[in-house]
Amino acid sequence: MTSNIGVVFDFDDTLAPDSTTFLLEEYDIDATEFWHEQFPARVQEGYDPTVAYLTLLLEQIGAKKTMGAATPADLKRCATELEKNLYPGVPDIFDALNEIVAQYEGVAIDYFVVSEGIESLISGSIISDHCTEIYASRLATDGSDVFSGIKRPISFTDKTRYLYEINKGITASEARENPYAVNAEIPEDERKIPFDQMIYIGDGITDIPCFSLIQDRGGRVFGVDEAETTSAKQQAILDLGSPQRAGNLNSPDYTADGQLGSLLRLAVESLCTDSTIDQLEAL
Ligand SMILES: [Mg+2]
Repeated sequence: MTSNIGVVFDFDDTLAPDSTTFLLEEYDIDATEFWHEQFPARVQEGYDPTVAYLTLLLEQIGAKKTMGAATPADLKRCATELEKNLYPGVPDIFDALNEIVAQYEGVAIDYFVVSEGIESLISGSIISDHCTEIYASRLATDGSDVFSGIKRPISFTDKTRYLYEINKGITASEARENPYAVNAEIPEDERKIPFDQMIYIGDGITDIPCFSLIQDRGGRVFGVDEAETTSAKQQAILDLGSPQRAGNLNSPDYTADGQLGSLLRLAVESLCTDSTIDQLEAL
C-alpha cells in the first residue's frame, strides 16, 4: 500500500508576498488605504473579513472603474508578474521534495495550496503546475467574463474544510458535485492522506485553525515570517486583534540552505523513513 504525504501551503505571505496587495498595486490602487481603512471599516460593518476584501475588490471592477472590465485572463497576466515575487527556492522546492520521495518505495507526495486569496490569480501562476489542487477564494463572472460577484470565499476557518477533503481523498470535482461529501464518515485508516502525514506551512495569521488541526493530529506545521516586513494585509488583520501563532517561525527561504527549506526537506525525509520502517515491520 502506498503511503501518501500531503504538503499544504498557505499562499499569501507564505509562498509569495500578499497576492491581493500585489494585484491592487498592479492597478495603481492604494493598498494601504484598502487594507487599513476600507477593509477594517467593512469588517466593523459586519462583513466576514474574506467577503469584505473580495467585495471591496469587486467594487473596483467594471466600466469606468479603476480595474476596468477585469476578467480571469487579466488576472492570469498578473499572475505571470506575481511569479517574479515568489520567495527564494519557490518553485524549486517541489522538485527537491519529489527527488527525496523518489528514493523510497511505496511513498507518494502531493502538494496543495489552501488560501483566502483569489483563485484566478494563484492558479494562474507556476505554482499550479506542481499542485494537485489549489483551493482559494473564487469570483463569479458575468456573461462577458467580467468579475461580477463572489462564488466561494475561503475564510480562515473554511480552510480546515479543505484539509478534511485532502485527508479524506475527496477531489475538488467530487466536492463541487457534492459539497457535503466532506462530511462522509471514513475510518481513519482508510483516509487518503492521514493528518500525521501532512505538513502545513503558513504565516500564522489566518492559519491558526489549520495549525491546530494538523498539530493536534500529529502532523507538522511550519510558520513563515519575514522579519523586516509585515504586509499591509497582515498588519490590517493584526490591527483587528488577530493573534499571530506558530510553533516555529522561519524566514520564507525554501532553498536547501534556508532554515525553512532544510526543515521541510528533513520533515519529508523523516516521513519517508517512517513509512519504510512501517512497511518492513508489516512483513
Ligand atoms: Mg497567509
